Amino acid sequence: MSRTGLQEFGCMPPTVVREPTRDRDKVHVCPSCGHPVGKSKGSQRIEKPDLVHVVLAAAFDELITFGWRCDRHPYDIVMPMRAGGSEARALVDGWTGVELRFADEHVRYVPVPEREVTENVE
Ligand SMILES: [Zn+2]
Repeated sequence: MSRTGLQEFGCMPPTVVREPTRDRDKVHVCPSCGHPVGKSKGSQRIEKPDLVHVVLAAAFDELITFGWRCDRHPYDIVMPMRAGGSEARALVDGWTGVELRFADEHVRYVPVPEREVTENVE
């Protein structure tokens, strides 16, 4: 199913989730267009996240994560910060890691606020 096709029918395309990329100068850039995205660092929203955990997948139509975004496309491209594992040790207290399938079909841990998960999955 092509994203262009979806837009013709008036549907919001889901957020495209990509790995964070840096250029030669170690600046975070969009993996699709190369635009610097460093200033966008912060909380990001992922529409229709492709979550691996079935309980989480049923609970979330959208997911809050931490990372970067590029808004120069017909759809949002979000690049979550690497969470490492389910405890998201690299991040501050209150964030946890969940497994999410990225646009390249690889599954990686992305940071989400711990409260979001505990409130939705009991
Ligand atoms: Zn871009």
